[in-house]
Amino acid sequence: MAAEPNCVFCKIVAGEIPSATVLRTEACQAFLDIGPLSEGHLLVIPVKHYTRMEDMPPEELAQLSRELPGLGRALVEVTGAAGYNLLQNNGSAAGQEVTHVHFHLIPRSTGDGLGYRWRPQAYPEGRADQILARYRDVLAG
Ligand SMILES: [Zn+2]
Repeated sequence: MAAEPNCVFCKIVAGEIPSATVLRTEACQAFLDIGPLSEGHLLVIPVKHYTRMEDMPPEELAQLSRELPGLGRALVEVTGAAGYNLLQNNGSAAGQEVTHVHFHLIPRSTGDGLGYRWRPQAYPEGRADQILARYRDVLAG
């Protein structure tokens, strides 16, 4: 997929916008988020423009994903974080603001106040089975 002319991440890949890049491979680029949720917050993007994760060819997603363990280790070593989140948003309803696939690696410490309102719900009787059946149908193609 060609670069999108108005995409800030495509401009970063092209070097038209400077970035604090920590890693660049054939498939991906990792750089400091300029609006970090915590020090050392990284963004990892494919060098080609895709809007959502499911738009990516699996091989290209795999190439990007291969860098994640090393980036996670580096994040822990550099920031001293006790943990980190790997976060990837698809669609504005999910909080995606830049429409170029990106993975956040967010250093975390206990009590840092970041994080989701995580409010698990229970399925009504029979609903989980309906959803399970739909997933299996869709995934079976
Ligand atoms: Zn882009």
